[in-house]
Amino acid sequence: MNPSEKLCLACGLCCDGTLFDLVKLEGGDDAAKLKALGLPVTVSRGKTPIARFPQPCSALCEDRTCRVYADRPWQCRVFECGVLKNAKAGRVTFAAALRLVQKSRRLADKVRRLLRELGDTEEHRALGERFHRMSDRLEFGKTDADANAKFADLSLAMHHLKLQALNKFYTKTEVKESASAGRAD
Ligand code: SF4
Ligand code: SF4
Repeated sequence: MNPSEKLCLACGLCCDGTLFDLVKLEGGDDAAKLKALGLPVTVSRGKTPIARFPQPCSALCEDRTCRVYADRPWQCRVFECGVLKNAKAGRVTFAAALRLVQKSRRLADKVRRLLRELGDTEEHRALGERFHRMSDRLEFGKTDADANAKFADLSLAMHHLKLQALNKFYTKTEVKESASAGRAD
């Protein structure tokens, strides 16, 4: 396994709903085949229909390998986050890149834990969406001091995660277009 593969298998943040809400299919992607392989591809209505599937990706395995790797969509083939690009270019060491993804994973895990403690168990939704739904729920619903304190922790953790995503992971040549933690959509 080369250092890039090792880094990505330790990370998975671009597939697990932390960095992105969805992946759009491109012209060369075989939507019917991807559907047959189990990806929940849907097509948006409108003048220019867009085929896409949500994240966390249903093809992401426990060990962070991709179940449909040989047939993965174009965006998944070409995407490289800033951390990976910097490591490949030698601007940071792979050891430093690994520490960064581990730190980001710990932050994302903290966000998930706090969401669960606040009653959100919708693990199939992207983190950004879950956070915004929780914000709406607490803003317009009845809360107690414990929930308010947890929500303050959650907001802080989400803020740090967004900063990490914006400063380290998203790149100018972003291809997985709809961001989650950074809400760049
Ligand atoms: S976010 Fe970057 S390091 Fe992590 S799996 Fe995706 S490309 Fe690899
Ligand atoms: S198809 Fe594979 S590479 Fe693409 S988002 Fe899903 S798990 Fe990641």
